[in-house]
Amino acid sequence: MCQRSSEYKPFLTLHSPINQAQRSGSDAPAAPAAEFCAVCRSTSRNPFVRHDGHTVVECGGCGLRYLYPMPSTEAASALYSDDYFRNDSPLARGYDDYEAERDNMRATFRDRLRFLPKPARHERLLDVGAAAGFFVEQARLAGWDAEGIELNGWAAEYAREKLAVPVRHGSLEDAGYPDRSFAAVTLWEVIEHIPQPREFIREIARILQPGGVLALSTPDAGSAVARVFGRRWLGWKKIPEHVYFFDRETLGRLLREEGFEILSTRYVSLTVRAAYALERLAALVGVPWLARVPKIIGNAPIRVNPLYDLMLVARLRE
Ligand SMILES: [Zn+2]
Repeated sequence: MCQRSSEYKPFLTLHSPINQAQRSGSDAPAAPAAEFCAVCRSTSRNPFVRHDGHTVVECGGCGLRYLYPMPSTEAASALYSDDYFRNDSPLARGYDDYEAERDNMRATFRDRLRFLPKPARHERLLDVGAAAGFFVEQARLAGWDAEGIELNGWAAEYAREKLAVPVRHGSLEDAGYPDRSFAAVTLWEVIEHIPQPREFIREIARILQPGGVLALSTPDAGSAVARVFGRRWLGWKKIPEHVYFFDRETLGRLLREEGFEILSTRYVSLTVRAAYALERLAALVGVPWLARVPKIIGNAPIRVNPLYDLMLVARLRE
C-alpha cells in the first residue's frame, strides 16, 4: 500500500463516496463551483488548514469549510474511476477485503434503516452513490422497492452480479429521473464529495414526492472530536476527495432553503472488524501497538459509534 493511500484512509468511514458530480444545469450559477459559499453565498473566505498541497478555507459568512479552489466536476468524478474500490477505499483494501466486510456493511445499513419510515407497499427508494449495493439490498429486505445509482462501474456491476440488486451505472443528472419518482432518497457519505451541493440537493428535491424523505450522513466538522483535534482532525486529510465539511447548522440550512424540514439528527454507528477499529484508533491517538491484535479477535465484528458520523433525516415540504 502506498503512502498516499494509507494517509487517506479515514477513521471508520463506511463505504464510498461515489458521488454524483455536478454539471451545470439550466438553473446552475454562472460562476464556477465555490467562487461563493454553497450555503450562504458569501465570497469571503480565509485559509483554515492545508494538507498535501490542498487548502481548506473557512467561509467568512457562515463558517462552512470547503476545499478551495474547488475542483471541477470532471476532476471530482475522475477520482471514482473503476480502481477506486479496489485501491483507495478505506474498506476496500483489495477485492478480498471488500468481500470480507460484506456482513459488517449489511449490519451497518440495517441499523440506519431503523431511522427511516416504514415503507408502504411498492414505495420507491433511490440510494445515490450506492457503491456495491449493500444498502439497496438491505432496503429491499426491509420492504422498499429500492434501487441505486453509482458513478463507479465496477461497484455497480458488483451490485447487479453478486447481490442481484438494481444499481445503475452513471450520474444522478444523466439518469434524469422523472419528477416525483421516489418516496425516499438516501445519500450515505456522498454530500461531502459534491462540488455543487445546492444544485445536487435541488435535483433530489425534484425527483422526490412531496412529503418524501431524504436521509443522509456526512462527517460532522462541528463534532466534539473535530473541535478537540482542531486543525489536526483526520477529517481534513480527506481532501481532495471531500470538498465540503458540513455541520448540523450548515447542512440543516442548505436543506431547509431547498424545501426540506429536518425530522431528526443523530450520530450513527458502524459495524466493522475489531482490527479495523483498533487500527484507526491507533492512528488517531498515535499509539501503534493498539493495532496489534490476534487475528481471531481482530476479525470479530464490533459496533462502534465514532460520534461524528452525522445522520440527518429530512422531509420534503408539500
Ligand atoms: Zn458561507
